[in-house]
Amino acid sequence: MNVAAQHMLPGVAETELPVAGGGMFPVRRVYCVGRNYIDHIREMKEADERDPPFFFQKPRDAVVSDGAHVPYPPFTTDFQFEVELVVALGLAGRNIQVVQALDHVWGYAVGIDLTRRDRQRDARDLRLPWEVGKSFDASAPCGPIARTRDARHFKGGAITLSVNGIERQHGDIGQMIWSVAEVIAQLSRQVTLGAGDLIYTGTPAGVGPVVPGDVIAAQIDGLPSLTITIAPAEA
Ligand code: MN
Repeated sequence: MNVAAQHMLPGVAETELPVAGGGMFPVRRVYCVGRNYIDHIREMKEADERDPPFFFQKPRDAVVSDGAHVPYPPFTTDFQFEVELVVALGLAGRNIQVVQALDHVWGYAVGIDLTRRDRQRDARDLRLPWEVGKSFDASAPCGPIARTRDARHFKGGAITLSVNGIERQHGDIGQMIWSVAEVIAQLSRQVTLGAGDLIYTGTPAGVGPVVPGDVIAAQIDGLPSLTITIAPAEA
């Protein structure tokens, strides 16, 4: 093996997610829509409900799978859940048209956009970037990916999240302000999308805080469920 081709740090892991029915989905990038359900915009007292979607990223290695134990993160006292439909792309593209956008979808999953709400509010108030509130270790749990041929394209269906068996979020995919196709088209005007990209498409109302020991279960009709446990903060 020549030196240029050697992995100098062989312990650096790839990020992969299990596919329902077998196989692994390699994760390239993780994008999230900032706001996409009216009732959540209202509970957050955000600005204009007709604003176009905006996007932020989480690190690829923030993705953790179903069954993960997520340590309570540092630098927050208001650690919150947001259940979201996750779109997994199988085809690259840029400047994608809305009518072609669903051709780029490989599958769907249930995800949780874990958030340091206090740091997100600070960032909003101080007009600083969102990273500290959104982009941190284990902040992107994602369930098994259901291939599009197995799952319908999501135009409607219940999206719910419970904590310790008590339902906290209940919405419908049909309440999304921007559809999956519109989200893909918009994002593809900003960046070149690639196979392996995940897009978290926003959360309905009911977001709230969790503490160590809480078990969070997220579900969307027709998709494999996602359950995580909040673990004590790491020493
Ligand atoms: Mn979110």
